[in-house]
Amino acid sequence: MQAIALLTQHSKQSAVEGPLQEAGFSVSTISGFDTDSLGTFTGTVARKGTQVDAAATKAKLAAELSGWRFGLGSEGSFGPDPYTGMIAWGREVLAFWDDTAQRLICAAVQGPETNYRQTTVQDWKDAADFASAIGFPAHGLIVGKPGESVFDKDCKDLTALEVQVQLALQSGPVELETDMRAHRNPTRMRMIRRCAELLSQRLRSNCPDCASYGFGEESPIAGAPCESCGLPTHAIMAKNIRCDACGHSQRVDLVQSVPASRCNYCNP
Ligand SMILES: [Zn+2]
Ligand SMILES: [Zn+2]
Repeated sequence: MQAIALLTQHSKQSAVEGPLQEAGFSVSTISGFDTDSLGTFTGTVARKGTQVDAAATKAKLAAELSGWRFGLGSEGSFGPDPYTGMIAWGREVLAFWDDTAQRLICAAVQGPETNYRQTTVQDWKDAADFASAIGFPAHGLIVGKPGESVFDKDCKDLTALEVQVQLALQSGPVELETDMRAHRNPTRMRMIRRCAELLSQRLRSNCPDCASYGFGEESPIAGAPCESCGLPTHAIMAKNIRCDACGHSQRVDLVQSVPASRCNYCNP
């Protein structure tokens, strides 16, 4: 078992330690570093760079602060789905950093399984309905915005929530938002666990060419032929799996053709 340091303030350890253990890593949390200074979900500090950059920064910091070879960083993002923009969408990234080999291996999962939501309420009844819809108190709820007279992330039950909401309502309509910090959001914890399982799988896959760990960096190949006219479409037909240590790659075919409904020529 090799030690790996996880930089987190939000008790993500329980979600990642099982899967990482299967890959031979024992996870320890590095505390005392304010990860919120790297950016937060509640808008107090804006995040810089991409989500993968943010996870990688945390993984490298974890290795640096622990003095260990391996570091782990987690970063989530939430917003409208990338296809229709109409449903809430979550994306989790886990970055694994090997300081000796200077290798970064990332895993990402995404999907609609998130309770990411906001609303503005005029009275306590609407607030109570929203709280029940998002799974409060098992899921945390944030009352107000940073800088407002009431900005509270710590209500543990309906009674405490009502006190804060009534107080905030004295100065007008109140914004409510699901708390996306992992320790206050069991749905997110489950997604982080799935991401850790994916990372663990990848850490256990060795490159068929150089035997290095972490084989499986995937990129999609578009151009699946239309089943009717045979012209290439924008649909994905295969994926390329690559070793980032030696560059060896394998192509995996996914489909032979796609329906004419996806063809720009047959169905413009
Ligand atoms: Zn066609
Ligand atoms: Zn290789």
